[in-house]
This record gives sequence, structure tokens and C-alpha cells, in this order.
Amino acid sequence: MSPSPRVAVVGTGVIGAMTAWHLARRGAEVLALDTYSPGHDRGASAGESRIFRTVYKEGAEYVPLLQRSGQLWRELEAATGSALLTLCGGLTIGPADDPDVAAVRACAEECGLDHEVLDAAEVGVRFPQHRLDTDEIAVLDPAAGVLRPEPAVQAALRAAEAAGARLLPYHPVDDVTETAGGWRIRSAERVYDVDHVVFAPGPWARRLAPLRESPVEARLITACWFAARDVAAHRPNRLPIAIRRHREAGFSCFPALDGAAIKIVPHHLGWPVLDDPDHLPRTADVEFVRRASAAAERLLPGVVPHPVRIGTYVEGFTPDDHALLGPVPGCANATVLTGFSGHGFKLAPVFGELAAELVLTGTTSHDIDRLDPARFA
Ligand SMILES: Cc1cc2nc3c(=O)[nH]c(=O)nc-3n(C[C@H](O)[C@H](O)[C@H](O)COP(=O)(O)OP(=O)(O)OC[C@H]3O[C@@H](n4cnc5c(N)ncnc54)[C@H](O)[C@@H]3O)c2cc1C
Repeated sequence: MSPSPRVAVVGTGVIGAMTAWHLARRGAEVLALDTYSPGHDRGASAGESRIFRTVYKEGAEYVPLLQRSGQLWRELEAATGSALLTLCGGLTIGPADDPDVAAVRACAEECGLDHEVLDAAEVGVRFPQHRLDTDEIAVLDPAAGVLRPEPAVQAALRAAEAAGARLLPYHPVDDVTETAGGWRIRSAERVYDVDHVVFAPGPWARRLAPLRESPVEARLITACWFAARDVAAHRPNRLPIAIRRHREAGFSCFPALDGAAIKIVPHHLGWPVLDDPDHLPRTADVEFVRRASAAAERLLPGVVPHPVRIGTYVEGFTPDDHALLGPVPGCANATVLTGFSGHGFKLAPVFGELAAELVLTGTTSHDIDRLDPARFA
């Protein structure tokens, strides 16, 4: 490949935006296209807040990636003058024998990561915003925090543009075809010829011909905001992010960033499959709201347990809940990043870096065999 390969990035949610940034700053000639606006709320990369954590129940092999991602979040903040990551700490709360609680403890111990294990009485003193049953515990990860998704996407795209990338919002890619040594991209009645294409289409993966057979399912994830009675006690300086596991409910929980309400993303109410990511319902049905309210009333004593705001988003899931990151099976000069299965945001900077390495050198600085798209081919 030439020293300045022409690379098209299809999709600029957080993953495509980060990939465009890393490619451009390594000297590639980048064209970054998206159907919608930077930071839009129709896909997976929106909704005010995202969890960042390094003690990882999903597997200790992610820890070096998470640590690198943490560095890159700070680099992006410095490069763009943006505040994106607040390290407010993170709690995993639930019964001591809950598999996720046990996995978090095991990961912290195996990797020698700072953490504290608190019993229900200690949580009652330090974090009374949560109500625990007496046999429940919390694992506190001091290196966890909260990310701001919309500003993060916009910052990554600004950094990409500053490094020379050309951004094309409102440019749906209608067709991609392999050519001798490259790809032809059709969008908004124009044609672009490039050496390499990176597909970062999130839940829209199967719409693109080379990914039609990929196992990525679009799923609906709904978030609910509840007004805090004492807002000061629910801001990030007093309330860590949390993953709440309970016999009756489960959710991720985010401190008040809007000056009024905390957010929860219920896990126990399911993430239904959507036949098409464009068929995203814009609100939740009453039964969902009733059950989310019941969870808030039972487990979050400091909120008014009726949501003041609902947000719906769509994410791409794979059958094993691990992303697809690597060469597109059966194609030359094509890389795919999709199917982040509800946990791609925190890792987006490092995933973008790995994709750029793969495109430009054919190899990566971290072992990502587990994410190889060929495992489902
Ligand atoms: C509600 C919710 C909560 C989450 N919580 C967390 C969390 O706390 N922590 C965490 O780490 N992760 C979390 N995740 C997961 C994380 O947000 C996603 O993994 C990540 O945002 C995926 O980004 P993406 O760029 O792959 O997808 P998207 O953001 O959906 O971006 C894909 C982009 O591709 C564009 N596109 C698609 N097809 C085309 C085409 N043909 N032409 C042009 N453009 C196209 C779309 O318009 C879109 O902008 C959560 C996800 C959701 C939905």
C-alpha cells in the first residue's frame, strides 16, 4: 500500500470516528461517511452517558485494552480541549455469589487492580443512594467512571479532521464494490475510489453487501431517567457509576449529569431484536416503564420512581457478545468493526487504534484473535 493509502470509513458512530482519527493521524487519506449527523441519537453512541471501567467481568484479557483506552481518552481530551471522561469510580453491586459480582472480584484479583469489597452496611454509609439487601456486597473500582458519548464522537471527528480526514455527514453509503486493488463506494450520487474500506456501521451491518451474512443482530436498548430528590448527592463526585445485580432486577446506573436526574439502563427487561435498525421505537411501552419504575423504587431510595425521560437506542449484538474486529471474511482490503454487544463505547479509542494498525500494517499491537470476524464465517 502507498504511504498515504486512501481509506473510506463507513459509519462515524464512536467506533468509526475513533478509527478515522487514528488512521488520519498515521497519515492515511481518510474519507469518513455517515448517513446521519456526528453524535446523532439513532444508533448506539448516544444517550448522555456511558460506563468506563477497567475491572472487567467480561474477561481479564480485556484489561490491557481498557488501560490503553483510558490513556487514549485522555489524549483525545487534550487534543480537542474536551471533557469526556470523569473518573467517579464504579460499583458492582449484588449477592456475593452472583456470577457478575464474582467475575469482577476475580478479575481485580487476577490482574492486581485496585478495588474494595464493601458489605451492605458499609455501602449504606458511603453510598446510601443504593439500597442493598443484607447479604449483598459491592465491589468498588476506583478507576471507573462516566463518559460523555455525543461530545466524544464529535471530539474524535474533530481530531480526525484536524489530522486531515474528510468528513461526509448525511452521506448514506448505498453500495460498495470490490475493484482491482481497492473499493468503489457509492454515496449521495457520487462515486469514491479507495484502497481500503473500513466498515463501522454499528447495528446496520447487514445492510452492507459484504456483511450481509454477518451474525450481527440489531437490538433495542432503553434508558430511563429518574429525578433525584437530592441532586447534589447524585452527582458524579458523590455517586459512582454502578452495575446493579439483584434477584428481582438488574441495571446499569449513571450519576446525574443533567443537573436533575440519574439514568438507569434496565438489563432484566430484555433487549428485543429489531427487524431493522431504522424501526427504532422512540419511546417505551407502559409495561416496560412500570417495571423499570418498580426496580427504581426497590433499589434507589433517593429518586422519584417514575421516569422523567426515556431514551431508546439500537446496538449490534453478536451471538457470543464479543465484537467483530478484523478483516472482512472473503474480501481483500476490507476491515470490519461491529457487534459491540453493549460494551463498545469505553473501548472505542483502542479499537479504533487497532483497526488503524490492521489497515496500515496488517497486524496489531494487542492480541485480538477472540474478535476475529472469521469465527462466524
Ligand atoms: C443504551 C446503550 C447503553 C450502552 N452502555 C454502554 C456503556 O455504559 N459502556 C460501554 O462501553 N458501552 C455501552 N454501550 C455500547 C456502546 O455504546 C456501543 O458499543 C457503541 O456505541 C457502538 O458504536 P458504533 O460506532 O459501532 O455504532 P453506532 O453508534 O450505531 O454507529 C454506526 C454508524 O454507522 C452509520 N452507518 C451505518 N450504515 C451506514 C451506511 N450504509 N452509510 C453511512 N453510514 C452508515 C450510522 O448512521 C451510525 O452513525 C451501550 C449501548 C447502548 C445502546
